[in-house]
Amino acid sequence: LLHSRTERLVLHENPFCCYDPASDHDIDNFFKIILEIDKSLNVCETTAEVLSKKKELQEFLKSHCRIRHYSFQIKKCNDVNCNVCKQVRLPQHIFENIDFLPDPIPSKCNIIFIRILTANTDCYEGFKTVYNTETSEKYRPTLMAAMENAERAPPAILTNTKVRDIIQCFQCGKFRCLYSEKALTTVQKSEFQRVINDWDYNCGSPLVSEDHALYNILFVREKVTCESPIELAYYSSRKNYISVCYWCGYEKGLIDIPTHVSSKYKFVFPLCNICQIAGKEFFGRIEIKTNTRKRKRNDL
Ligand SMILES: [Zn+2]
Ligand SMILES: [Zn+2]
Ligand SMILES: [Zn+2]
Repeated sequence: LLHSRTERLVLHENPFCCYDPASDHDIDNFFKIILEIDKSLNVCETTAEVLSKKKELQEFLKSHCRIRHYSFQIKKCNDVNCNVCKQVRLPQHIFENIDFLPDPIPSKCNIIFIRILTANTDCYEGFKTVYNTETSEKYRPTLMAAMENAERAPPAILTNTKVRDIIQCFQCGKFRCLYSEKALTTVQKSEFQRVINDWDYNCGSPLVSEDHALYNILFVREKVTCESPIELAYYSSRKNYISVCYWCGYEKGLIDIPTHVSSKYKFVFPLCNICQIAGKEFFGRIEIKTNTRKRKRNDL
Protein backbone atom coordinates (compact mmCIF):
# COMPACT_ATOMS: atom_id res chain seq x y z
CA LEU A 1 0.00 0.00 0.00
CA LEU A 2 2.76 2.42 1.02
CA HIS A 3 4.63 1.37 -2.08
CA SER A 4 1.89 2.34 -4.52
CA ARG A 5 1.06 5.54 -2.65
CA THR A 6 4.66 6.72 -2.63
CA GLU A 7 5.09 5.99 -6.34
CA ARG A 8 2.26 8.39 -7.09
CA LEU A 9 4.32 11.27 -5.63
CA VAL A 10 6.26 13.58 -7.91
CA LEU A 11 9.13 15.91 -7.08
CA HIS A 12 10.38 18.41 -9.68
CA GLU A 13 8.44 16.42 -12.29
CA ASN A 14 10.29 13.21 -11.40
CA PRO A 15 8.08 10.48 -10.03
CA PHE A 16 9.20 8.69 -6.89
CA CYS A 17 10.54 5.20 -7.32
CA CYS A 18 10.45 2.57 -4.58
CA TYR A 19 13.06 -0.12 -4.12
CA ASP A 20 12.45 -3.37 -2.33
CA PRO A 21 13.90 -3.46 1.17
CA ALA A 22 16.76 -5.82 1.97
CA SER A 23 15.54 -9.34 2.63
CA ASP A 24 16.33 -11.16 5.88
CA HIS A 25 18.63 -13.37 3.85
CA ASP A 26 20.57 -10.34 2.54
CA ILE A 27 20.80 -8.87 6.01
CA ASP A 28 22.16 -12.15 7.42
CA ASN A 29 24.77 -12.35 4.69
CA PHE A 30 25.82 -8.78 5.22
CA PHE A 31 26.03 -9.28 8.95
CA LYS A 32 28.38 -12.22 8.47
CA ILE A 33 30.81 -9.82 6.81
CA ILE A 34 30.40 -7.27 9.58
CA LEU A 35 31.16 -9.95 12.16
CA GLU A 36 34.61 -10.25 10.64
CA ILE A 37 35.22 -6.67 11.68
CA ASP A 38 33.89 -7.03 15.21
CA LYS A 39 32.96 -10.45 16.59
CA SER A 40 31.18 -9.00 19.59
CA LEU A 41 28.36 -7.58 17.46
CA ASN A 42 24.84 -8.94 17.68
CA VAL A 43 22.29 -8.62 14.87
CA CYS A 44 19.56 -7.84 17.43
CA GLU A 45 21.48 -5.06 19.13
CA THR A 46 22.32 -2.39 16.61
CA THR A 47 21.26 0.84 18.30
CA ALA A 48 23.72 3.72 17.98
CA GLU A 49 24.40 3.55 21.69
CA VAL A 50 25.38 -0.13 21.65
CA LEU A 51 27.50 0.33 18.52
CA SER A 52 29.31 3.33 19.96
CA LYS A 53 30.80 1.01 22.59
CA LYS A 54 32.08 -1.60 20.14
CA LYS A 55 35.76 -0.84 20.05
CA GLU A 56 36.81 -2.82 16.99
CA LEU A 57 33.90 -1.59 14.90
CA GLN A 58 34.60 2.02 15.86
CA GLU A 59 38.27 1.58 14.99
CA PHE A 60 37.26 0.21 11.60
CA LEU A 61 34.86 3.09 10.94
CA LYS A 62 37.60 5.54 11.78
CA SER A 63 40.24 3.99 9.56
CA HIS A 64 38.18 2.84 6.58
CA CYS A 65 35.03 4.95 6.37
CA ARG A 66 33.82 8.48 6.08
CA ILE A 67 30.40 9.20 7.56
CA ARG A 68 28.52 12.31 6.60
CA HIS A 69 24.96 13.39 7.09
CA TYR A 70 23.93 12.36 3.59
CA SER A 71 26.65 9.91 2.60
CA PHE A 72 28.63 6.92 3.73
CA GLN A 73 31.91 5.99 2.06
CA ILE A 74 34.11 3.01 2.62
CA LYS A 75 37.55 2.32 1.21
CA LYS A 76 40.28 -0.25 1.63
CA CYS A 77 42.95 0.98 4.03
CA ASN A 78 45.91 -0.39 2.03
CA ASP A 79 47.58 -1.53 5.24
CA VAL A 80 49.25 -4.96 4.92
CA ASN A 81 48.52 -5.70 8.59
CA CYS A 82 44.79 -5.07 8.23
CA ASN A 83 42.87 -8.29 8.86
CA VAL A 84 39.66 -7.05 7.24
CA CYS A 85 40.68 -5.70 3.86
CA LYS A 86 41.69 -8.04 1.10
CA GLN A 87 44.56 -7.08 -1.12
CA VAL A 88 44.09 -4.04 -3.33
CA ARG A 89 43.36 -5.18 -6.89
CA LEU A 90 43.81 -1.84 -8.66
CA PRO A 91 47.31 -0.91 -9.75
CA GLN A 92 48.95 0.66 -6.72
CA HIS A 93 49.55 4.09 -8.29
CA ILE A 94 45.87 4.43 -9.17
CA PHE A 95 44.64 3.25 -5.81
CA GLU A 96 46.86 5.71 -4.00
CA ASN A 97 45.31 8.59 -5.87
CA ILE A 98 41.78 7.64 -4.93
CA ASP A 99 40.46 9.69 -2.07
CA PHE A 100 37.10 10.01 -0.33
CA LEU A 101 34.67 12.31 -2.10
CA PRO A 102 35.03 15.85 -0.77
CA ASP A 103 32.33 17.84 1.03
CA PRO A 104 30.84 20.91 -0.63
CA ILE A 105 33.06 23.93 -0.07
CA PRO A 106 32.01 27.43 -1.07
CA SER A 107 34.19 28.94 -3.76
CA LYS A 108 36.67 31.49 -2.45
CA CYS A 109 35.31 34.53 -4.24
CA ASN A 110 31.95 33.89 -2.69
CA ILE A 111 32.95 33.19 0.88
CA ILE A 112 31.64 36.55 2.09
CA PHE A 113 28.21 35.75 0.72
CA ILE A 114 27.94 32.44 2.48
CA ARG A 115 24.35 33.04 3.52
CA ILE A 116 23.29 33.29 -0.09
CA LEU A 117 24.71 29.83 -0.64
CA THR A 118 21.75 28.12 0.92
CA ALA A 119 19.74 29.35 -2.05
CA ASN A 120 22.40 29.20 -4.71
CA THR A 121 24.22 25.97 -5.38
CA ASP A 122 26.46 27.41 -8.09
CA CYS A 123 28.83 29.07 -5.62
CA TYR A 124 30.74 25.93 -4.68
CA GLU A 125 34.30 25.09 -5.57
CA GLY A 126 34.76 22.73 -8.47
CA PHE A 127 35.37 19.06 -7.73
CA LYS A 128 38.95 19.17 -8.97
CA THR A 129 39.88 22.03 -6.64
CA VAL A 130 38.71 20.31 -3.46
CA TYR A 131 39.42 16.69 -4.30
CA ASN A 132 42.32 15.28 -2.27
CA THR A 133 42.01 18.09 0.26
CA GLU A 134 40.76 17.84 3.83
CA THR A 135 37.12 18.98 3.91
CA SER A 136 34.40 18.98 6.53
CA GLU A 137 30.66 19.19 6.68
CA LYS A 138 30.49 22.70 8.02
CA TYR A 139 29.13 24.14 4.76
CA ARG A 140 26.25 21.68 4.51
CA PRO A 141 23.27 24.00 3.91
CA THR A 142 20.92 22.42 6.45
CA LEU A 143 23.69 22.44 9.06
CA MET A 144 24.39 26.09 8.38
CA ALA A 145 20.72 26.91 8.77
CA ALA A 146 20.61 25.01 12.06
CA MET A 147 23.69 26.82 13.32
CA GLU A 148 22.15 30.14 12.47
CA ASN A 149 19.15 29.39 14.65
CA ALA A 150 21.14 27.84 17.47
CA GLU A 151 21.66 29.71 20.71
CA ARG A 152 25.23 30.56 21.63
CA ALA A 153 24.67 29.21 25.13
CA PRO A 154 25.25 25.47 25.64
CA PRO A 155 21.80 23.84 25.35
CA ALA A 156 22.08 22.18 28.79
CA ILE A 157 22.27 25.59 30.44
CA LEU A 158 19.00 26.90 29.05
CA THR A 159 16.78 25.19 31.62
CA ASN A 160 14.74 26.47 34.53
CA THR A 161 17.17 25.18 37.17
CA LYS A 162 20.01 27.27 35.75
CA VAL A 163 18.14 30.58 35.81
CA ARG A 164 20.20 32.90 38.02
CA ASP A 165 18.48 36.20 37.48
CA ILE A 166 16.35 38.11 35.03
CA ILE A 167 16.95 41.25 33.00
CA GLN A 168 14.45 43.67 31.56
CA CYS A 169 14.52 44.81 27.95
CA PHE A 170 14.56 48.58 27.82
CA GLN A 171 12.48 48.58 24.65
CA CYS A 172 9.61 46.16 25.29
CA GLY A 173 9.90 45.85 29.06
CA LYS A 174 9.84 42.03 28.98
CA PHE A 175 11.93 40.03 31.39
CA ARG A 176 14.47 37.66 29.90
CA CYS A 177 16.13 34.91 31.91
CA LEU A 178 19.84 34.79 32.61
CA TYR A 179 21.41 31.37 32.74
CA SER A 180 24.73 30.09 33.99
CA GLU A 181 26.16 26.65 34.63
CA LYS A 182 27.02 27.41 38.26
CA ALA A 183 25.65 30.05 40.59
CA LEU A 184 27.52 33.32 40.21
CA THR A 185 30.35 34.09 42.61
CA THR A 186 30.32 37.30 44.60
CA VAL A 187 32.74 38.90 42.16
CA GLN A 188 30.63 37.84 39.18
CA LYS A 189 27.52 39.15 40.88
CA SER A 190 29.02 42.59 41.29
CA GLU A 191 30.20 42.52 37.67
CA PHE A 192 26.67 41.68 36.64
CA GLN A 193 25.31 44.52 38.77
CA ARG A 194 27.62 46.90 36.97
CA VAL A 195 26.32 45.61 33.61
CA ILE A 196 22.75 46.31 34.69
CA ASN A 197 23.63 49.81 35.86
CA ASP A 198 25.74 50.76 32.87
CA TRP A 199 23.97 49.42 29.86
CA ASP A 200 20.54 49.08 28.33
CA TYR A 201 19.76 45.51 27.43
CA ASN A 202 17.40 44.80 24.57
CA CYS A 203 15.96 41.51 23.29
CA GLY A 204 18.17 39.64 20.85
CA SER A 205 21.50 41.09 21.90
CA PRO A 206 24.04 39.30 24.07
CA LEU A 207 24.15 40.35 27.70
CA VAL A 208 27.68 41.72 27.45
CA SER A 209 30.25 42.29 24.72
CA GLU A 210 32.64 39.56 23.64
CA ASP A 211 35.57 40.84 25.69
CA HIS A 212 33.60 40.94 28.94
CA ALA A 213 34.41 38.46 31.71
CA LEU A 214 30.80 37.25 31.82
CA TYR A 215 30.47 36.67 28.06
CA ASN A 216 30.87 32.91 28.34
CA ILE A 217 29.54 32.60 31.89
CA LEU A 218 26.16 34.26 32.02
CA PHE A 219 23.86 33.79 29.03
CA VAL A 220 20.63 35.26 27.79
CA ARG A 221 18.72 33.84 24.82
CA GLU A 222 19.92 35.73 21.76
CA LYS A 223 17.50 34.31 19.22
CA VAL A 224 14.59 36.34 20.54
CA THR A 225 13.01 39.61 19.54
CA CYS A 226 10.81 42.02 21.48
CA GLU A 227 7.86 40.13 19.96
CA SER A 228 8.90 36.78 21.47
CA PRO A 229 6.77 35.69 24.42
CA ILE A 230 8.14 35.21 27.92
CA GLU A 231 10.37 32.15 28.33
CA LEU A 232 8.80 29.18 30.06
CA ALA A 233 11.83 29.02 32.38
CA TYR A 234 10.74 32.39 33.77
CA TYR A 235 7.66 30.72 35.26
CA SER A 236 9.25 27.44 36.27
CA SER A 237 12.51 28.74 37.77
CA ARG A 238 11.16 28.62 41.37
CA LYS A 239 12.55 32.08 41.96
CA ASN A 240 9.04 33.43 42.47
CA TYR A 241 9.27 36.12 39.86
CA ILE A 242 6.12 38.21 39.60
CA SER A 243 3.39 36.74 37.46
CA VAL A 244 3.36 38.41 34.04
CA CYS A 245 1.38 37.91 30.86
CA TYR A 246 2.98 35.21 28.71
CA TRP A 247 2.45 37.24 25.53
CA CYS A 248 3.28 40.84 26.46
CA GLY A 249 5.11 40.57 29.78
CA TYR A 250 2.89 42.99 31.72
CA GLU A 251 1.81 42.15 35.22
CA LYS A 252 -1.40 44.20 35.21
CA GLY A 253 -4.84 43.03 34.18
CA LEU A 254 -4.16 39.31 34.34
CA ILE A 255 -7.34 37.32 33.96
CA ASP A 256 -8.37 34.28 35.95
CA ILE A 257 -7.81 31.00 34.20
CA PRO A 258 -11.21 29.52 33.28
CA THR A 259 -11.74 25.90 34.30
CA HIS A 260 -12.22 24.70 30.73
CA VAL A 261 -8.60 25.80 30.11
CA SER A 262 -7.07 24.67 33.40
CA SER A 263 -8.70 21.27 33.06
CA LYS A 264 -7.20 20.86 29.60
CA TYR A 265 -3.52 21.59 30.33
CA LYS A 266 -1.15 20.68 33.09
CA PHE A 267 0.47 24.13 32.86
CA VAL A 268 -1.36 27.30 31.83
CA PHE A 269 0.51 30.59 31.54
CA PRO A 270 -0.92 34.00 32.47
CA LEU A 271 -2.84 36.13 29.98
CA CYS A 272 -3.73 39.81 30.37
CA ASN A 273 -6.96 41.44 29.27
CA ILE A 274 -5.25 43.59 26.62
CA CYS A 275 -3.73 40.55 24.92
CA GLN A 276 -7.04 38.75 25.16
CA ILE A 277 -8.82 41.62 23.38
CA ALA A 278 -6.05 41.47 20.77
CA GLY A 279 -7.05 37.85 20.11
CA LYS A 280 -4.45 35.95 22.13
CA GLU A 281 -5.45 32.85 24.05
CA PHE A 282 -4.15 31.20 27.17
CA PHE A 283 -0.96 29.36 26.35
CA GLY A 284 -1.02 25.86 27.81
CA ARG A 285 1.49 23.06 27.90
CA ILE A 286 1.09 19.30 28.28
CA GLU A 287 -2.44 18.38 27.47
CA ILE A 288 -4.25 16.39 30.11
CA LYS A 289 -5.52 13.19 28.53
CA THR A 290 -9.12 12.63 29.42
CA ASN A 291 -9.51 9.02 28.27
CA THR A 292 -12.99 9.56 26.93
CA ARG A 293 -13.05 6.16 25.32
CA LYS A 294 -12.49 4.39 28.59
CA ARG A 295 -15.15 6.42 30.32
CA LYS A 296 -17.65 5.55 27.63
CA ARG A 297 -16.98 1.89 28.08
CA ASN A 298 -17.54 2.20 31.81
CA ASP A 299 -20.82 3.96 31.17
CA LEU A 300 -22.05 0.99 29.21
ZN1 LIG B 1 41.76 -2.31 6.10
ZN1 LIG C 1 12.48 43.60 24.07
ZN1 LIG D 1 -0.50 40.65 27.74
